[in-house]
Amino acid sequence: MFCDIVADDRPAFVVYESPETVAFLDQRPVFHGHTLVLPRPHYDTLADLPAELIEPLFGAVQKLSVAVPDAMHADGSFVAVNNVVSQSVPHLHVHVVPRRRKDGLRGFFWPRHKYDSEEEMEQTAAAIRDAVSRLGAGGAR
Ligand SMILES: [Zn+2]
Repeated sequence: MFCDIVADDRPAFVVYESPETVAFLDQRPVFHGHTLVLPRPHYDTLADLPAELIEPLFGAVQKLSVAVPDAMHADGSFVAVNNVVSQSVPHLHVHVVPRRRKDGLRGFFWPRHKYDSEEEMEQTAAAIRDAVSRLGAGGAR
């Protein structure tokens, strides 16, 4: 299904795109602003990712590790990859989750907080796109 989003055959709230990557809001976020970053070509897991896509993928993750908490007025971020176990979609994706001090997230218990509406999702995606655009080129700071 993520290949469908990459191909524009399935709608998503896209927050960042590059020639090699696309990032969009998780439909069932741990916290609002929870973003998934993936390589456009299909690879099942991190172990399958070719060396030449490591920098493009993790360069995008680095930007979003700053832009997502910035947009959500959070304190920091959590970055994670599930491989096979707990991997709900078998297309490699990196989670970028905004974190706040005392937000209640403990260990690997992942509560899910639905968005109230499509409008709320679009406002969240727009805030992250704005935060990415403020970062400029190169590194994340
Ligand atoms: Zn795929």
